[in-house]
Amino acid sequence: MVDVIGGGILGLTLAYELLKQGQSVRVWERSATLGGLMGRTSFPELGHMSCDRYYHAILNSDRTLMGLMDEVKLRDRLKMVSTKMGFYHDGRSYPMTTPLEFLRFPPLTFVDRARLAYTILACRQVKDWRQLEQMPVADWLTGLSGERTVRHIWEPLLRAKFDGDFSQVPATYIWSRLVRTTDTRSKGKELMCYLPNGYQELVDALAHAVSTRGGTITTGATVDQIRVVGDRVVGLSVNGQELSSDKTVITMQTPIARRLLPPEAANVSARWGQLEGYLGIVCMLLVMRRSLTPYYTLNITDQRIPFTGVIETTNLISPRDAGGYHLVYLPKYVAPGSPYARMGDDELQTTFLGYLRQMFPDLRDDDIAAIRIGRERYVEPLHPIGATDLIPPVASAVNGLYLANTGQIYPQLTNGESVCAFARGVAARVAGQQINASAVGAIALTASS
Ligand SMILES: Cc1cc2nc3c(=O)[nH]c(=O)nc-3n(C[C@H](O)[C@H](O)[C@H](O)COP(=O)(O)OP(=O)(O)OC[C@H]3O[C@@H](n4cnc5c(N)ncnc54)[C@H](O)[C@@H]3O)c2cc1C
Repeated sequence: MVDVIGGGILGLTLAYELLKQGQSVRVWERSATLGGLMGRTSFPELGHMSCDRYYHAILNSDRTLMGLMDEVKLRDRLKMVSTKMGFYHDGRSYPMTTPLEFLRFPPLTFVDRARLAYTILACRQVKDWRQLEQMPVADWLTGLSGERTVRHIWEPLLRAKFDGDFSQVPATYIWSRLVRTTDTRSKGKELMCYLPNGYQELVDALAHAVSTRGGTITTGATVDQIRVVGDRVVGLSVNGQELSSDKTVITMQTPIARRLLPPEAANVSARWGQLEGYLGIVCMLLVMRRSLTPYYTLNITDQRIPFTGVIETTNLISPRDAGGYHLVYLPKYVAPGSPYARMGDDELQTTFLGYLRQMFPDLRDDDIAAIRIGRERYVEPLHPIGATDLIPPVASAVNGLYLANTGQIYPQLTNGESVCAFARGVAARVAGQQINASAVGAIALTASS
């Protein structure tokens, strides 16, 4: 029996893959609903319209995810759309989807633009990411793109993504990001995919597949502690009730996972604690009566604006799938101690709306039908320069105890594709298959590259 703790996309994909390998599986999820960060939020004041709590795109290059959707019979539901990207710079929005639009971006000279194009090409030529993990991202980008491009494009983007401090971010970050985003480009267009009811459709289909294969899923079930005797897992305590278990996989973020470890597993806790930094997020969702921008993503390089971007997901998904409304997300990544993380909802709403009005002076109160503020403490795992060897291993020093979370996915970025590929690799590991890779991060890389 394998116990999987956490019913997010990682836990559910893992459970499904374990069942395919002939294992018996139980999934325990603390919330009343499945999906974790990929779940939905509903608006009783708008006739119970529901939408994704956060924005989640699927790329047409997400091979593992597409394969999984084939298996759970969702592929026909997937829609592909050509989307647009923009940059908000110096008080104006600029389209930046096509190569020609890039070439017209005002703050860059012709040489800067050529070097930017060269940076993207150079990324795709990198064969060994290990050489990039020791290098500060800003140094690497300055060498490739030049100082002006770093100052006008890369630095503002990095500052926004890492809440101001990217001094410890290795070059692998931008490399992974550029390789993934250029995979969405076809003939100068950006192609993205979506399911009409969001990732929740995949979550529900996976849950159904787990149940049909004999696995059990229990919601409202908080795992309080893992039980360890000697060097073995013997069980777990769920809602205060003790259960026996041979193998347990914790899928929550490392700081939460460590809280479940008993004193007998102090060595495991110390090992996992070697790398457990995460950025959190505050994200304001506006349900609007009209569209705000033509872009799926409007990146912000204007330092006066605190949020990372303006993400209008109804430029990807149809407004029909959002009750006829337009959905605009304003995310702000927050380091621990960020004033934005501490701000109350009312103050945050007033602050963010104030900045949004600076960007869009014609925005009116009655354009906005509803607002939700989402907050998450552990979202973006941090992998500082040269820290790859500190990533916690999947199999721990306690027999039968495994950790499988987004913090172990590296050098890829955390997204649905990398999470599902990783879960598949972990399932093979837990089920005892021989796999030819020293770190499961490498499994995810192989599966998605
Ligand atoms: C704003 C934002 C934008 C994003 N954009 C994208 C995107 O465009 N594309 C993309 O693919 N990804 C995106 N992501 C990332 C994506 O949401 C995550 O990578 C993914 O959802 C992580 O899934 P998970 O299962 O690892 O973790 P989670 O979703 O956090 O699941 C963990 C689960 O464990 C449960 N749990 C916690 N403690 C216990 C306990 N003690 N007992 C039992 N259960 C417990 C939680 O309730 C939760 O359901 C985005 C995330 C955010 C926040």
